[in-house]
Amino acid sequence: MFVTQLPLLSDLPTRPATGTMPLGPPVGDHGADVVYREIPCKTIIGRSPGAAGGGYPFSHTVNPYRGCEIGCTYCYARYTHAYLGLDDPFAFERQVFVKLGADRRVAHDLRDDHFAGAEIAIGTATDPYQPAERRYRVTRRILEKLAAFSGLTLSITTKSPLILDDLHLLLRLARKSTLTVHMSLISLDADVIRRLEPKAATPQKRLEAIACLARHGIRVGLFLMPIIPGINDDPRQIERLETAARRAGAAFVCKGRMNLRKAAWPVFARMLNTHYPEAANHFAARAERLTRA
Ligand code: SF4
Repeated sequence: MFVTQLPLLSDLPTRPATGTMPLGPPVGDHGADVVYREIPCKTIIGRSPGAAGGGYPFSHTVNPYRGCEIGCTYCYARYTHAYLGLDDPFAFERQVFVKLGADRRVAHDLRDDHFAGAEIAIGTATDPYQPAERRYRVTRRILEKLAAFSGLTLSITTKSPLILDDLHLLLRLARKSTLTVHMSLISLDADVIRRLEPKAATPQKRLEAIACLARHGIRVGLFLMPIIPGINDDPRQIERLETAARRAGAAFVCKGRMNLRKAAWPVFARMLNTHYPEAANHFAARAERLTRA
C-alpha cells in the first residue's frame, strides 16, 4: 500500500500572535512540562453557534479552563490557544489557564433574564475535570452556583472519572434542573487511547464512571467522537464500545466524525506518522488543504 508521509510541525507556516489576553504568571510546576496560569475571569457564559441555528444542541457554553492537559491529539479546541498567539502546537496541553472567579461570574450572569431557557454545555473547549480541577475546583465552584438556580438545562462533557468527586453536587443539580453527562470515549482499546489521548483515563475507568453515574440516577451517555478513519472506525469495534457503554448504563450514544482543524494538525500528524502511518492516506487531501491555508 502507498503510505503518505504527512507534513510535520516544521513544515507548517507560523502565524503572527493575534491574542490580546494577558497570559498571567505561571503557577508552579505540575508534572513534566505543564504550567497553570491563573487569570481573572471576565466572561464565562459564551454563546454557541447553535444559538444562531448552527446545529449544536446547546445555546451557551461554559469552559472553566482554557487549554487542556489531557492533550488529545485530535482536539479541535486547540485553536483557542492559537487565537492567543501561542503557536507552539503543544501549548494547549502545557499552558492551562485557570479562570479565577468564574463561579461568581456565572452567578452574576445567570441573574440576567437573558439566559432564561438557556441550554448550557459545560466543557466544549476544555475538559472541566482535567487534572487542574484537583487543585483549583473551578468546575465544582461553578456547579455549586448553578445548583442555586432551577429550571436550567445543563450538560457536562468529560473524559475523567474525577467527575465522581462531585456526585453529590450533580445529584443536587439534577433535582432542580435537567442534567446530562456525556462521558467521552472513542475506543475500548487502551493502546489506542494512550496514543490519541495521552493523559486521559483508561476506557475501563470511564465505563466505571458511566456505571456509577447511572446507578445514582444521573442521566449519562456515551460521547463517541471523533470517529477517525483508519483508527477507530471499524464498525465491529464501534458496536462493541456502544454495547459496553449501554451495559454500563449509558442512556444514549452520540457519534460524530472528526472536526480536524489547522491548530490540531501538527500534533495529529505527528501521532499519525508515529503510530498509524498506514492511515495517513485518509488524510492526505486534508493535509494538503491545512498546510496551504
Ligand atoms: S479532553 Fe477534550 S478538551 Fe481536553 S484535549 Fe481532549 S478533546 Fe480536547
